[in-house]
Amino acid sequence: MLNLVLFGPPGAGKGTQSQKLIERYKLIHLSTGDLLRAEIAAGTKLGLDAKRYMDCGTLVPDEVVIGMIENKIKSNPEAKGFIFDGFPRTVPQATALDKMCYDNKISISAMISLKVDVAELTKRIVERGKTSGRTDDQDPDLVGERIAEYNNKTAPVSDYYAKKSKAHYIDGMQSIEIVSNEIFKIVDSL
Ligand code: AMP
Repeated sequence: MLNLVLFGPPGAGKGTQSQKLIERYKLIHLSTGDLLRAEIAAGTKLGLDAKRYMDCGTLVPDEVVIGMIENKIKSNPEAKGFIFDGFPRTVPQATALDKMCYDNKISISAMISLKVDVAELTKRIVERGKTSGRTDDQDPDLVGERIAEYNNKTAPVSDYYAKKSKAHYIDGMQSIEIVSNEIFKIVDSL
């Protein structure tokens, strides 16, 4: 089984590269952002609670996203593997993912980190906001808050995987195609 953590700040290209990985390796895409937006669209209590955090650009509580991911792993026992996109975003989420993997007899194959500078991230998110319909992409203050949350709470997750020798780093400023090819090279060598 191939289980990849696609890591990086908002706007780094995780969603775009996830689509390329799905096509090539037939993995199941688990994006906590997408799952939360689906809960909001369905008007569930979980969605309404999460929306309060998302509207401020802050992370939703760990137990909410951990529960969602656990459900998805359990409901896809035939999966060839998973792409974790936007999860884990805190060290407690990373340790919870390891426990879930252990309980479900799977393991994380690699963490692939996309590095993009703040000016480029902001430009990409604002551009995406013109068509994504995502309110958190349209407000520059919210974009700044999301990047600050990443720096404060999410960046340490990269060291978590580095210590386990599972971290790979890619220059995410390059074209979509070059980034995809670099990811494929890493995955094919696993
Ligand atoms: P994204 O679509 O990945 O940019 O996520 C949009 C928003 O959903 C984030 O700004 C957070 O408020 C929330 N979110 C998504 N994934 C997580 C996560 N793993 N942990 C906490 N909050 C999350």
